[in-house]
Amino acid sequence: MARVFSGIQPSGELHIGNYLGAVQNWVRLQTQHDCLFSIVDLHAITQPYDAATLASLTLDMAVSLYAVGLDPEQCIVFVQSHVAEHTDLNWLLTSVTPLGELERQTQFKDKAQRQESVPAGLLAYPILQAADVLLYKASLVPVGEDQVQHLELMREIARRWNARHGTGYFPEPQPLLTKTRRVLGLDGKAKMSKSLGNTIGLFESPEAIWEKLRPAATDPARKTRKDPGTPEICNIFTVHEGFSPPDTVTEVAHNCRTAGWGCLDCKRVLADNMIATLAPMRERANALRREPATVLERLRAGAGRARALARKTMAEVRDRMGFLKAGED
Ligand code: SF4
Repeated sequence: MARVFSGIQPSGELHIGNYLGAVQNWVRLQTQHDCLFSIVDLHAITQPYDAATLASLTLDMAVSLYAVGLDPEQCIVFVQSHVAEHTDLNWLLTSVTPLGELERQTQFKDKAQRQESVPAGLLAYPILQAADVLLYKASLVPVGEDQVQHLELMREIARRWNARHGTGYFPEPQPLLTKTRRVLGLDGKAKMSKSLGNTIGLFESPEAIWEKLRPAATDPARKTRKDPGTPEICNIFTVHEGFSPPDTVTEVAHNCRTAGWGCLDCKRVLADNMIATLAPMRERANALRREPATVLERLRAGAGRARALARKTMAEVRDRMGFLKAGED
């Protein structure tokens, strides 16, 4: 089975954008591949963050991942900082990473522009991403459009390291292009993001889901109930595709184009389908929140399995790079 690696930042509870854009796909992938999924807390500190909440947000993300269906029997879920080999390999890879490539990364340029003082970690972020994947010799990485450039750099780092220290040692990771849905925020404009306050949390109550969905942006051409709409340009339709059965999606599209339904009718159908899909996940999340020790134990076991793979790679990497072996304790 091909090995897959993917990571998610510890932003606390998942929202429907994270779910439809990535994590729903992970739940499928765990049955098809040898998967490692990491809560990448070391990446989170490259942006301004609150040290007082990092641990609880990390734990909340773990609860979310288990609640949506990541199964420790089928995949490895772990916290990135619990496996020190990530930072270890990160440093070794800096020796083969061209500075110019880092400076050319679009995400770096965008994020650096918004900060008065730019931490070096923001520039080096793609090297740590490369270390995350290469440490496990993963050959497939599920990527969104915004990560394609980082994946290309990861492949370049693997090529350069291999050229210097061992042809073919690291596989050049390939993008795993599976169908995911890019959902906009409830404003219908910006990316769905907690910091923009335009999200629906995955485990919100049925009442809260409806309260947020009711005023959400739709096709702006539907100014009155009688105006026909274009489902393809409506964010609500995209969310329907993620939560409603295919025949309902067809019905939505027809009733939108013919003005058979108003947008509120359409959203009510969506709310019912979302609530039905999310209810068992919310129950699992509530149960896990009552048992943080169970969640920590699962993460500890996940980190142990990841560490065993990582240590093997690091021993081989150090050897190939010519470091003197440490004596036995
Ligand atoms: Fe969007 Fe549904 Fe309204 Fe059509 S009917 S514009 S799909 S909310």
